[in-house]
Parts: sequence; C-alpha cells; structure tokens
Amino acid sequence: MVVVERTGVADAASGKSGGFLARDWCDGSPLAPLARRGFDLHGFLANSLDQDWGYRQVETLRVIASVPSDVGPYRNLPSLAWLGEDAAVYSQLGSPETTAQISPTAFTNAMMDAAIDGGAKLVAGCVDGVVLSPDGDRVTGVMIDGAILSGDAVVIAMGPFGRCLPANGCSCRQQAARRAIAWCSTTHRRQNRCSLSLKTAIER
Ligand SMILES: Cc1cc2nc3c(=O)[nH]c(=O)nc-3n(C[C@H](O)[C@H](O)[C@H](O)COP(=O)(O)OP(=O)(O)OC[C@H]3O[C@@H](n4cnc5c(N)ncnc54)[C@H](O)[C@@H]3O)c2cc1C
Repeated sequence: MVVVERTGVADAASGKSGGFLARDWCDGSPLAPLARRGFDLHGFLANSLDQDWGYRQVETLRVIASVPSDVGPYRNLPSLAWLGEDAAVYSQLGSPETTAQISPTAFTNAMMDAAIDGGAKLVAGCVDGVVLSPDGDRVTGVMIDGAILSGDAVVIAMGPFGRCLPANGCSCRQQAARRAIAWCSTTHRRQNRCSLSLKTAIER
C-alpha cells in the first residue's frame, strides 16, 4: 500500500479536528454501521497498539451558557464546578460507552506509523488524476506530479479536495467503483461521507 500526501500527514482536517467520536449519533442513517464500527475500532486500537494518541472515553453533556440571560430554567442536571455559574447542564448526550475523544494529530500520525510498520509506503507528491486502462474499464494507477504510479485499487481520501480530482473517462462515482476506485470524502454538506464502499472497490 502506498499513501500519497502533498503537504504532510495530519496537516489538514485529520490533524485539526475536535477528535470527537460518537457511537450512535448516525443511527437512523446509512452511516450508522460505519459509525458504530469506527467507534468500536477506536477502542480496540487504543488498547492494542503501543502508542498514545490520548484516547479517552468521555461523558458528553449538552450545556447552555449565556451571560446576559438566566439559564436557570435549562438546569436539568447538576452542574459541574468548572463550568461556571452562567452555564447550565441541559441534558446528557453520551456516556463513556458511547462517546470518546482522541488527539487527532497524534492519532493520524500513529495510524500512518503503524501502516508503515506493516509495510506501507508514504510518498510525498501531489496526485493529479486517476489513470484508467485504455478501454477505460479498470483503474491502473494515479498520476503524481505528472508521473504514473501503478496500482490495483485507488482509495481517494483527500477530504474536501477529492471532488477536484479528474478520473479520465469516469462520468460518475458508481462507474468509478466498478473500476476499483473508492472515495472517502468530506463534503460541505455532510462530514465523514463515505461515498462508495471500500469493500466493493477492493474486492474488484
Ligand atoms: C474544525 C474541525 C473540527 C472537526 N471535528 C471533528 C470531530 O470532532 N469529530 C469528527 O469525527 N470529525 C470532525 N471533523 C471532520 C473530520 O476532521 C474530517 O471529516 C476528516 O478529518 C476528513 O479526513 P480525510 O482524511 O478525508 O481528509 P483530510 O484530513 O482533509 O485529509 C486529506 C489529505 O489529502 C491531502 N491532499 C489533498 N489533495 C491532495 C493531492 N492532490 N495529492 C496528494 N494529497 C492531497 C491533504 O494534504 C490532506 O492531508 C472536524 C473538521 C474540522 C475542520
């Protein structure tokens, strides 16, 4: 496996996010199984890899705070000392079984280090496009700064930049899936959208 990165690992959202994890906040949506699996995997990885990225299971509260108004009517649960008098705990959003937090920069770097230990390569470069076979039926690699890097499957994990990537001859993402290309993209409408099944792409 080769990871191509144009600036640096964790330089974008993966290193700057809040690092908040919730097990059941996607329930009722198609992302529910992915969110639950991801949450459980975080716990498993934190216990099994010998690196510290600050994983901690946390209680999550909905807090109302306002200096000019009286928040008293919203005080449904006992307050916490560090919140201050102008904040009221309205409800509990999650428990340590369902919400957790990581340090995103440390986590992303730890994942990259673990992948390298497992045989992956990190290559510095800018991906310019996806290369398809002459009949357009299969992905054969990606263009990196004008040079071709061959591969059996391509996973596009470029955050919000993924939509700019040209895949010659691919008019839609469903067609791309059949060519062993998968997108993991963050869109402006919905975060953490996995547009296509990695399984579908990798099985091809
Ligand atoms: C302020 C903020 C807070 C957030 N808080 C949370 C949170 O608490 N919990 C949560 O689950 N999510 C949170 N998110 C969302 C989450 O951070 C993102 O959904 C996630 O990090 C996206 O990961 P990614 O790998 O798809 O993209 P990114 O982290 O954006 O990584 C994309 C990478 O691709 C590289 N790249 C781009 N173009 C190219 C190219 N042409 N060639 C080579 N490399 C390229 C970039 O340099 C970058 O390193 C937050 C986001 C933000 C911005």
